[in-house]
Amino acid sequence: MKDDTPTDYHAIARGLAYPAQALIDGSFVPADSGRTFETRDPYTGAVLSQVPRCDARDVDRAAASARRAFESGAWSGLHPSERKAVLGRLADLIMENREELAVMEAVDAGKPVTDCLAIDIPETASCIRWHGEAQDKLYDQLAPSAPDAVGLIVREPLGVVGAVLPWNFPLMMMAWKIGPALATGNSVVVKPAEQTSLTALRLGALALEAGVPPGVLNVVTGFGPEAGEPLGRHMDVDAITFTGSTEVGRRFLEYAAQSNMKEVCLEMGGKSAAVVLEDAGDIEHIAELQANAIFWNMGENCTANSRIIAHAAVYDDLVAALARHAADWTVGDPLGPATKNGPLVSAEHLGKVAALVESGRREGARVVCGAEAGEGLCYKPTVFAEVTREMEIFQTEIFGPVVGVTKAESDAQAIELANATAYGLAATLYTRDVAKAHRYARALRAGTVSVNAYSEGEISTPFGGYKASGFGGRDNGIHAHEQYTELKTIWIDLS
Ligand code: NAD
Repeated sequence: MKDDTPTDYHAIARGLAYPAQALIDGSFVPADSGRTFETRDPYTGAVLSQVPRCDARDVDRAAASARRAFESGAWSGLHPSERKAVLGRLADLIMENREELAVMEAVDAGKPVTDCLAIDIPETASCIRWHGEAQDKLYDQLAPSAPDAVGLIVREPLGVVGAVLPWNFPLMMMAWKIGPALATGNSVVVKPAEQTSLTALRLGALALEAGVPPGVLNVVTGFGPEAGEPLGRHMDVDAITFTGSTEVGRRFLEYAAQSNMKEVCLEMGGKSAAVVLEDAGDIEHIAELQANAIFWNMGENCTANSRIIAHAAVYDDLVAALARHAADWTVGDPLGPATKNGPLVSAEHLGKVAALVESGRREGARVVCGAEAGEGLCYKPTVFAEVTREMEIFQTEIFGPVVGVTKAESDAQAIELANATAYGLAATLYTRDVAKAHRYARALRAGTVSVNAYSEGEISTPFGGYKASGFGGRDNGIHAHEQYTELKTIWIDLS
């Protein structure tokens, strides 16, 4: 008989053992200094755990253990099908522990538990599985040559990879990095965001349980300047893969230039636009899709469509429909089964969002709905109309549930406005005309363009940004493997 009792996520949260130690060389350990910092539930303000405040000494220990593990061949030297089997076990363990992981993610990051269960946890598992599965189906290359020579072109793991993560999708972003990095045979040192350390540590424990050898996956918790910078400057780290703000991303290029010129791949901020053309079709449906595109995950999403550029012919209807759909995005307790939006990640971040909303008011944009905080660090879904390109809310990433609608007089002006920011992560285009769809999808300067839907693609499609949104490679798809491998030519003279 089916059990219809609603799951009591609060009871699960009360029963959780929150991690409190870093993972270095296969063991859970305190920081060398013994220092810790608090990690809090942003909705209730309760302290969940004290985690190690790691610094350069801990990063050194982790990088050294990653190097030893790499050189030992315990992971890098396995047949790809053996790494596949271990990563498959890790994906299974993630799914077996999905309620625990979902609740931990929800209370640590303020994300709705229902989203964590339906999206974050399954996608974390499937990402790791996908990259593991791919490994034993990829072939290297043989160059065209005369019969007296053989030119092999092979891909090799880089060695030690540092992964520096953001707080908005803590587990998923970790999977986007460690999935391809581990599958290709590297060892990894992960530095989670200081706001959300807990699930990274739990995933580290599950990796050990799955059979990832000690030292191959390390997790050092701590702050950017204390733990992230030493990783970026480390002389024995071969690559940094980073997801976070453009401001911090730039620093990793400096760190690399000033240290060992390690490879750097950066996935950074966005100010993505949805372009709604005159022939876009069902405006009510588009408004529903676009409410999801900006309000999902509290707008704390790098591809959130925080700008809508609407043709004058559909502008008024779209603004009115957006306000109706914004009302569906109920805010509150992230553990509530009906909650669509939880709190923003921290009081500091809430302050940034509120200040940008104030700048929109001051500069003459019209508040259609929202524009105020709710209880427990929540922020109400906000729609601005009459936004112009000079305004700060048009140019600056808000990273909250705030969308601005801008009127365009023509298709050409709409595309020009969509491209008129420093960012280029994603864009969305609505038109029923197939020729316009192709032409404008190419004209939009963004790493992902979705047509007639808001989408980031799937695990099989590369993800990353143009302009200030990305540098040095892509996450997802087989293309992600390029970030974690070096190309080698082996030329054999047969004469
Ligand atoms: P952030 O740049 O503040 O922090 C990201 C990471 O960098 C954290 O682990 C942090 O501790 C570390 N860090 C901070 N200062 C550092 C320093 N001086 N040296 C080394 N490391 C340092 O970003 P955030 O606030 O955690 O995340 C939000 C940002 O991430 C937004 O801009 C968002 O668009 C972006 N993001 C991008 C993608 C993408 O794939 N393009 C995905 C998710 C989030």
